[in-house]
Amino acid sequence: MLLPILLIFGIYKVIYIDEKINLNTKPPNFKNNVYTHKPIILVHDVSPLYYNELKEIVKIIDKYHYQNRTYLFVIVNHNNRYNLKNYPKFVEFLHKLEDKGYHIELHGYNHIDGEFNCNKEVAKEKIKKSLEILNACGFNNISYIIPPRYEVSKDAENVMLSYNLTIITKNYIITKTGKIPIENREYTWYLPKSFTGIVFPIAEFDYKMSKYLFYLSIHPKSINYGGGIEFLDEFLNQTTITK
Ligand SMILES: [Zn+2]
Repeated sequence: MLLPILLIFGIYKVIYIDEKINLNTKPPNFKNNVYTHKPIILVHDVSPLYYNELKEIVKIIDKYHYQNRTYLFVIVNHNNRYNLKNYPKFVEFLHKLEDKGYHIELHGYNHIDGEFNCNKEVAKEKIKKSLEILNACGFNNISYIIPPRYEVSKDAENVMLSYNLTIITKNYIITKTGKIPIENREYTWYLPKSFTGIVFPIAEFDYKMSKYLFYLSIHPKSINYGGGIEFLDEFLNQTTITK
């Protein structure tokens, strides 16, 4: 019995993040099983490296008309190798998604280690260069940042705020006016196919019991593995039929 429990615990990767965006934060009203607030989807690690994986993810999001509720967090120069400016087809793809209602936001410059666990000068240089690349690719409306690994030094935090970026960390969001506790979950970190049926009811329970507006974090590649896409399909199907 111990092994299955450990495995379930292992894949039940609960990440407390979220709460952001220009949406109110009332909890779902689950009287009569009717929810008033659908989840928000945060897609991390949006990079030309995961072009095909992203295509597969947005097919499901489109299917349930979640475009306006989905935020794509872009790495602008992934591993110092995948500079967005050198991938016009991928940029065009992101613009098409933006036209459909998806939000384009910033995840990191190169996503190497906890890159924003750094001093003021480095942070300033990285944010400046990141926004320059995004602007050069036609994305001028960046409002949010999720620092890679949720790591951000106080200096980097101040730099981000000075650029009018709202910061999403693991347990709260940080704005110029203060910190707001948040809650965010991720269930599809290399989810084995045979575990989908176990994880889905856990996610549904979390969503129903959530005190805050519910955020679902997903990572390309890991969600494309095993039962991840099937989980997303089922989860959005459930939350779409609620109003
Ligand atoms: Zn990341």
